[in-house]
Amino acid sequence: MAEKKKKIIKTIKIDVDKCNGCRACEVICSAFHAEPKYSGNNPARSRIRVIRDPLRDVYVPVCAGEYAVAECAGRDKYTIDEKEYDECAFCRASCPSRNDFKEPDSGLPLKCDRCEGEEEPMCVKWCLNDALTYEEREEEVEEEVKQEDLEIGLESLVDKYGLDKIMDTIARMSKKD
Ligand code: SF4
Ligand code: SF4
Repeated sequence: MAEKKKKIIKTIKIDVDKCNGCRACEVICSAFHAEPKYSGNNPARSRIRVIRDPLRDVYVPVCAGEYAVAECAGRDKYTIDEKEYDECAFCRASCPSRNDFKEPDSGLPLKCDRCEGEEEPMCVKWCLNDALTYEEREEEVEEEVKQEDLEIGLESLVDKYGLDKIMDTIARMSKKD
C-alpha cells in the first residue's frame, strides 16, 4: 500500500466575472520569471494567460498546468450566464494546438510554479480587481512519483524535433571540448 504524506495544496481561485482583461497578471508573471528577475516582461512568456474576447465581455485568466503531448479530440462549448466559452478557454495544458504556455524562443512548455518562495503569488498581488485569490490547505495524499521538470522538457523537445535529432545533438555536444 502506498504511503501517505502531508502536502500543501496551493490554489488560485479565479473569478472570471471580476476579471476585466487588464493583463497585469501576465506582465508581472513574465517579469518575475525573467532572467535576471524583473529584467523585462513579455506576456508571451507568462505562466498565466488571459483568454480575451472583449466584444462578448469574455475574460478568462488561466494558469499553466501540465504539458500535454497530444491535443485532445473534443472541442465543447460552455454557456455560462449567457456567455459562450470555448473549451480551450478553461484548459491549463501546454499542448500542440495553441501557442499559449510555451517559451517563445525554445517552444518549451511553461508551467505555473505558484511563484515558488513568495508568500503570495505575484499575479494575485497584482490583480487589483480581486479576480485571483490565493488559498493554501493541507491534505494527506499518497506518495507520488513526480515527473521531473527536466523530463517534461526533454519530452517536449523530442516531440518537436524527433528523438534521432536530439540524440545526434547530444552526441555532437559531448564530443566538443
Ligand atoms: S490582473 Fe486580474 S483583472 Fe487583470 S487580467 Fe489578470 S486576472 Fe484579470
Ligand atoms: S502564481 Fe506565479 S507563476 Fe503562477 S501564474 Fe501567477 S505569477 Fe505566474
